[in-house]
Amino acid sequence: MTDFLIIGSGFYGSVLAERIANVLKKKVIVIDQRSHIGGNCFTDIDKKTGIEYHVYGTHIFHTSNVKVWDYINQFTDFNNYRHQVLSRHKRKIYQMPINLETINSLFKKNLNPKEASIFLKKITKTFQKKDYKNFEDKAKSQIGNKLYSAFIKNYTKKQWNKDPKYLPSSIFNRLPIRLNYNEDYYEQTQWQGIPKYGYTEIFKKLLNNKNIKLILNKKYDLNFKIKPKYLTIYTGPLDRLLNYKFGKLDWRSLKFKKKRLDINDFQGTSVINYPDLSYKFTRIHEPKHLHPERSVFKTNKTLIIEEYPSNNVNEPYYPINDKKNRELHRKYKNYLKSFTKFTFGGRLADYAYYDMDMTISAALKKFEQIKKNI
Ligand SMILES: Cc1cc2nc3c(=O)[nH]c(=O)nc-3n(C[C@H](O)[C@H](O)[C@H](O)COP(=O)(O)OP(=O)(O)OC[C@H]3O[C@@H](n4cnc5c(N)ncnc54)[C@H](O)[C@@H]3O)c2cc1C
Repeated sequence: MTDFLIIGSGFYGSVLAERIANVLKKKVIVIDQRSHIGGNCFTDIDKKTGIEYHVYGTHIFHTSNVKVWDYINQFTDFNNYRHQVLSRHKRKIYQMPINLETINSLFKKNLNPKEASIFLKKITKTFQKKDYKNFEDKAKSQIGNKLYSAFIKNYTKKQWNKDPKYLPSSIFNRLPIRLNYNEDYYEQTQWQGIPKYGYTEIFKKLLNNKNIKLILNKKYDLNFKIKPKYLTIYTGPLDRLLNYKFGKLDWRSLKFKKKRLDINDFQGTSVINYPDLSYKFTRIHEPKHLHPERSVFKTNKTLIIEEYPSNNVNEPYYPINDKKNRELHRKYKNYLKSFTKFTFGGRLADYAYYDMDMTISAALKKFEQIKKNI
């Protein structure tokens, strides 16, 4: 018999397994339906080019949470990578999020911060309202029609497969606009970088403990034979666990298409957005730029990965955070309250978008609760 059973070897499951095995010295079985550890943070080496890539999309570690930073640094060093995003509109490259360079380039101007602020007021004047009913309304009120149409409208349409007129205004709150030339995507975050030896090495270290038994390629359901002494911790989607008893939660998914090129550098940076509708993909990733410190950076080979939004609910990426889905998720959560020796967490079970630091922080908090109750 095991003490704990953890379903899922992503950050939520692996951090809890490490804490329980290391601090409480209890036995843990970790199972995952995939053939690898690490959940969506899994990194792998492309054998033909020798370039490490993030299998489920580029992951930049960034945090201002000192507990998370101290914790993760026990398992990896980070390189000095600073994330920058660019956007290709009508064959020209612009900086993202929208900053002074983006505004000056698009409008062919040379404004300073004060002039740009006055300019923005002028171009947004006709879009000011008391109440914004949807994403498009709100976006235009902040950046005007030209910036919105160039960088936001069609990107959003491709990402969510919905006209932004039918998306809630609350989503737009998340896009920063800068009236300076700062191009550091996570400018307000205290620490950022890419794990020097990749994310998978972190998971190997987290799970490398004689108290942890790992079982891959194994799908958990409620008939699972192993019943732990203390607790089952589930990190998958709740609707799937309960055989869609109350209905299916909607998710937006992604597909990735890899291409190998015999050149040193395709795009000069790790991620470029493609907002125009003439491209079906939304981004191109070039993972060698995440590790400029590696010798493979200098070789005459590169790997690029096109990212296509998709509706495949079997590969859940982004929750559709509307009223219908939130209510359905609450229903599943309430139903599971009656389960004994059972708990859940992580991005899939909570039906939430969590950055990695949020996921690690949530797992560390859950561990403190478990420690108290054991
Ligand atoms: C495209 C994309 C890009 C991202 N980029 C960043 C970024 O740059 N920076 C950042 O901080 N965060 C980023 N994130 C967020 C990051 O991926 C999450 O914070 C993290 O993966 C959450 O870990 P988790 O353990 O909750 O879930 P997951 O990593 O999804 O792990 C859950 C695991 O549970 C397993 N599982 C589920 N159900 C079952 C079952 N029934 N039986 C067995 N196994 C099961 C799954 O196979 C999976 O391995 C990004 C997310 C996405 C979607």
